[in-house]
Amino acid sequence: MKDKFFYACVDCGKTFESSQTIYLCNECEKRNDDKHPPYGVLKTEYDYNGINTRLKNNVFQQLEKTGFIDLLPIKSNDSLPFLKVGNTSLYKITSIDNDIFDFELYLKDDSQNPTFSFKDRASAIVSAYAKENNIDIIVAASTGNAGSSLAGICASQKQKAVIFVPASAPKAKLTQIMMYGAQIIPVDGTYDNAFDLSIETTKKYGWYNRNTAFNPLTIEGKKTVSFELFSQLNKNLPDRIFVPVGDGVIISGVYKGFEDLLNLGIIDKIPVIVAVQAIGSGNIINNLNRNNFISSSSRTLADSISVDIPRNFRMTKKYLFDYAGENILVSDEEILAASKVLSSRTGIFAEPAASAAFAGFLSFYWDGKFEKGSKNVVLLTGSGLKDLNAVQKIIDIPEPVKPDIKEIEKFFF
Ligand SMILES: *Cc1c(COP(=O)(O)O)cnc(C)c1O
Repeated sequence: MKDKFFYACVDCGKTFESSQTIYLCNECEKRNDDKHPPYGVLKTEYDYNGINTRLKNNVFQQLEKTGFIDLLPIKSNDSLPFLKVGNTSLYKITSIDNDIFDFELYLKDDSQNPTFSFKDRASAIVSAYAKENNIDIIVAASTGNAGSSLAGICASQKQKAVIFVPASAPKAKLTQIMMYGAQIIPVDGTYDNAFDLSIETTKKYGWYNRNTAFNPLTIEGKKTVSFELFSQLNKNLPDRIFVPVGDGVIISGVYKGFEDLLNLGIIDKIPVIVAVQAIGSGNIINNLNRNNFISSSSRTLADSISVDIPRNFRMTKKYLFDYAGENILVSDEEILAASKVLSSRTGIFAEPAASAAFAGFLSFYWDGKFEKGSKNVVLLTGSGLKDLNAVQKIIDIPEPVKPDIKEIEKFFF
C-alpha cells in the first residue's frame, strides 16, 4: 500500500517517504549552524486527489465525521489520548466597553486543552504516532508549554517524557511537568540551549523528538485548529486570524490546515493571517525583508513567544509571502493592558503570549482596520494561570479588612 503521507523539504522540495521517522531534509540540514534558523524543515503532504476520488461528495462533512483522520499522519484516531484535545470553544464577542462592533470578533479559546495550552494539539499527534510505532520515550525542549503539554499527554498515554526547559520558565509550567511525572531537565541557559541539548539526546540515545520545527508532525497537530474554525463558522472562512508567534510553528500550522482544505478544493482562498510578536522578541517579523537573518536577543514578559532563533522562520516567511499575511509588533505594556481588557470584559484570562494576539487585535481595532461585516478571529493559545507573576504589576490586591460590615463600605461608597 502506498504511504498515506510523505514529506517535502520546505527549502529544496526534495521528498521523503514516511515509512521511517525523519526530522530534517538530509541535504539542506548540512547548511545549518547555531546562529541561523534551520534549513530543511519538512512539510507533510497527503494524496489530495486520492482523498477527493475516494470521498467524492461533501468531502468536508465526511472528513469532519471521521475526525479528519484522512489528513492526519496517524493510522487511527484510537491512538490519540483519551483526554479531550482540540475542539475548543469559539466565542463570538459583540463589543468591548460600550462600542458595539460592526464586524465580527471570535475568540478561539485553546486554554481549554488538557494542559491549558494550544501545544496539546501537537503533543497529541506526536504521542499517537509514537504509540503506533512502539516508541516509549519522547523528548522535547520547551519554553514551558510544549514541555508541560508533552508531559501531560504522555502521562495519559503511559509514555515517558523527557523535558528540557530553561530554568527560568514560569513556575506553573515547571510544576505541571513535575506533577505529570516527566523527567525534567532544567537548563541553566536559554530555550535555544535547551533545544540543542534535546537534539543531541535524540542523536545519542535515539529518543523520539517532539521539538517544533524539527519533528514535522507537530504542525499536523496544530493545523487542526483551522479545520475547527472552518467548521465552527458554518463552513465560512474568517477574514483575519491573529496568531501569537514565537518559533512560527503555530502560525504555520494554521496556514497548513487551510492549505490542506485549499488542496482539496474545499476552499478557494486562504484567510489573512496576522503574525503578532512582542517588540522585544520580533525575530520573525524583523527579518521578513532581510536577506541575511539577524537575531536579537529577546526580552519580553511573554515567555512563550520569547525566541532568539525562530526555528520555523523559513516556513513562516514563505507562508506569509505566499498568502499575503500581515504582521504587527506589540509592546509588553500593550500585552499587559490587553490581558486586563480580555479578562475583565470577557472572563477569559489568557497568558501573556496569548494576550499578545489580543493586543494585536486591539491595535487594528483602534486603527479602524476592520471592514464592516468581516469575521476576525483571535487565537488564545494558553491560560493566564500558567504565569501569574507576569500580571502582578498591573493588579493591586487590597489590604485585608476586619470582618466588620462597616469596613465593606470603603470599597463601594
Ligand atoms: C508556543 C506558544 C506560542 C507560540 O508558538 P510558536 O509555534 O512558537 O510560534 C504562543 N502562545 C503560547 C501560549 C504558546 O505556548
